[in-house]
Amino acid sequence: MVTGSTSGIGRGIARALAASGCDLFLNGFGEPAAIEALRIEIAKEHGVRVGYFDADVSNPEECRDLIAKVQIEAGKLDILINNAGIQYVAPIEEFPQERWDAILAVNLSSAFHLIGASLPGMRARKFGRILNIASVHGLVASVHKSAYVAAKHGLIGLTKVVALETAGQGITCNAICPGWVLTPLVQHQIDARAAAKGVDPERAAQELLSEKQPSGLYTTSEQIGALVVFLCSPSADNITGTSIPVDGGWLAQ
Ligand code: NAD
Repeated sequence: MVTGSTSGIGRGIARALAASGCDLFLNGFGEPAAIEALRIEIAKEHGVRVGYFDADVSNPEECRDLIAKVQIEAGKLDILINNAGIQYVAPIEEFPQERWDAILAVNLSSAFHLIGASLPGMRARKFGRILNIASVHGLVASVHKSAYVAAKHGLIGLTKVVALETAGQGITCNAICPGWVLTPLVQHQIDARAAAKGVDPERAAQELLSEKQPSGLYTTSEQIGALVVFLCSPSADNITGTSIPVDGGWLAQ
């Protein structure tokens, strides 16, 4: 189950898991026809079963219901990827309360509800892989991202607790911390920057990189997907409770 897999990083993770032979469920918002085309394309390309659930993961009941539906339809849930996320950028004194609430609900509380609902089945089968897509902003801050940075730091804390509560039970829980990945979530920030500075979007995209990511390269969704597949493999049986940056050197500074 990959939340927020109708776009960006989640879609890359879904494709990588399908390529490694996993049956999976997509989730996220978007045009129904585009989501159905994506579902069919991934299933056909990799010969796996791909389903879709439209749960809004900001809603605790829909989170619990989502896991119940997956378990009924597939019989079990081995891998949970908490990827759905949203962003909003403003100085804290101007930050709308409803944006704070929404970011905490989608980027942090959803993982609490989805993990809680998934663990009984994983424990019964003595196997589970939980991956929380956090961010470099789970480990360091940037201005104007109070809700996002708070949620992502919280997600890394949650990752550690779940790792301890499941240690030695065949279940691992880790966080992945991407730096900049060129997805719609980041494109909004590039477009806002281009408009504010009166530069073209390509220049704004390069400026964003040069401020934070020393490699000068955007991480790709495919690279995050490949790391997820590794962390779900037997080679990663003893990796748990960690936060793994994929950030072109951002955190080395
Ligand atoms: P994106 O905007 O391309 O995709 C977000 C996905 O989440 C979409 O499928 C969207 O429909 C879904 N979503 C949003 N709200 C939802 C809700 N309430 N219920 C269900 N689905 C919902 O963004 P992305 O860049 O691919 O981000 C994916 C994750 O990676 C997020 O958690 C984000 O914080 C994290 N991340 C992104 C970057 C980056 O540079 N793009 C860096 C670090 C971390």
